[in-house]
Amino acid sequence: TMAHSEALLVLENFIGGKFVPCSSYIDSYNPSTGDVYCRVPDSGKEEVELAVEAAKAAFPIWSSKSPLERSQILNKLADLIEHDLEEFAQAESKDQGKTVTFARTIDIPRAVYNFRFFASSILHHTTECSEMTAVGCVHYTLRTPVGVAGLISPWNLPLYLLTWKIAPAIACGNTVVAKPSEMTSVTAWMMSKLLEKAGKGCDDSLPFFPSGVPPGVVNVVFGMGSKAGEALVCHPDVPLISFTGSTLTAQRITEKSAPHCKRLSLELGGKNPAIIFNDADLSQCIPTTLRSSFANQGEICLCTSRIFVQRGIYNEFVKRFVAEAKKWKVGNPSDPTVSMGALISKEHLEKVRNYVKKAQAEGARVLCGEGVDSLVLPADNQKGYFMLPTVIAEVKDESKCMQEEIFGPVTCVAAFDTEDEVIERANRVKYGLAATVWSSNVGCVHRVARRLQSGLVWTNCWLVRDLNLPFGGMKASGIGREGAKDSYEFFTEVKTITIKH
Ligand code: NAD
Repeated sequence: TMAHSEALLVLENFIGGKFVPCSSYIDSYNPSTGDVYCRVPDSGKEEVELAVEAAKAAFPIWSSKSPLERSQILNKLADLIEHDLEEFAQAESKDQGKTVTFARTIDIPRAVYNFRFFASSILHHTTECSEMTAVGCVHYTLRTPVGVAGLISPWNLPLYLLTWKIAPAIACGNTVVAKPSEMTSVTAWMMSKLLEKAGKGCDDSLPFFPSGVPPGVVNVVFGMGSKAGEALVCHPDVPLISFTGSTLTAQRITEKSAPHCKRLSLELGGKNPAIIFNDADLSQCIPTTLRSSFANQGEICLCTSRIFVQRGIYNEFVKRFVAEAKKWKVGNPSDPTVSMGALISKEHLEKVRNYVKKAQAEGARVLCGEGVDSLVLPADNQKGYFMLPTVIAEVKDESKCMQEEIFGPVTCVAAFDTEDEVIERANRVKYGLAATVWSSNVGCVHRVARRLQSGLVWTNCWLVRDLNLPFGGMKASGIGREGAKDSYEFFTEVKTITIKH
């Protein structure tokens, strides 16, 4: 069904500083109404080829600018996005299904901050030097930009995660071809308009403080992963791919890029545990664990989906947690009283619902949400992809619900007795992205954090990030880390030089 009252939004690729139409398009849905409202270029090899050519052409000038010049440009981009923050937030909500409040307070401010952060951090890296007096040599390292970076991002935090890649890539002097998710392309297109604006009047003869992003430094190609994404991964002149998405896609990217020996950064899925000890401060733990389970409809790679609660407080925790989950209002993402918007697509909603059905069939108990409570939606949202926050108990550790990434508003609770037991159970999944640990015993928190197989461990909190420090997962959750120093290392090539005097 199409919304007749509104004209369709038609996106174009952004290549070499210009908007370029495509020969075919993909329909994009508004998840909260189920209407097609936007058409996204269905790019393939040809478009990717043009974008890579533009990025290659821009590389010599961009890579030879000083970090200070690039930093000024990143800050300018941050200012431009911030100026339009409200428009970006509305667009992200409409395109993705998340609440406007979430987009306004998390997604877009973080996209702005990604540019500001790397504009600053790029000014502060130094390289190593080592002297060998006995042989009269001094060794030092140099870091240089790699070339054209291929950046592929998912649909859950569209502009947030795309800028987390674009900012460090261009700060380090690379030029980029970015491929956002075909399901959430609008804010990347809006950002391209700002890049075009910032690029106008860009004068390369100015030695300092140039006014914008030169054409070709950031190219955005829209389309399907299997077509546009794969063309980028297979392109011989793209030596580096930064990917955020599912483990399955990452396996395919690894395979496809192997003949070219590409440098890969892979930020993948999670099956994140929360471990809650008897001495946890439940007044903090309950609201935070609700957020960690259901924020952004549970569509964050860092969301909690297995809650292990120590036996002494299990009953109390479950009672209070379920009572609070039932208070979460689901519906129109623009309604400020709503805590949870729509899931990304009809197919994804079905997939998430099926996990709940599977758990029930195995004998688990659904304590609230899907299948047990009724969801009342406003008239305009009847065809949207909504579901209630769902809590399941008595799920076996081996069950699919406890092993596979669901990526929706579903969380399982289970009781445990000892520290050793819970660590072993928490680690018994293929993923290792993020964990939370709740206890007021610092020794316990430290021991558990140390032994968890997890790239990130938050104790007595969740989603507090310092971008200076590494982000990334272990095991099937990824390869490589991103953050101030880690991104710098990933997006540059290092060379060791020896001088004999
Ligand atoms: P996805 O893997 O389906 O798609 C991610 C991106 O890859 C999209 O742009 C897609 O078009 C592209 N793609 C798909 N197939 C491709 C191929 N063959 N070659 C090249 N590109 C291809 O993931 P998704 O469904 O968009 O996102 C959800 C997943 O992302 C979840 O697993 C989630 O945990 C993960 N995620 C991880 C992090 C992290 O930082 N670790 C952050 C957010 C999301």
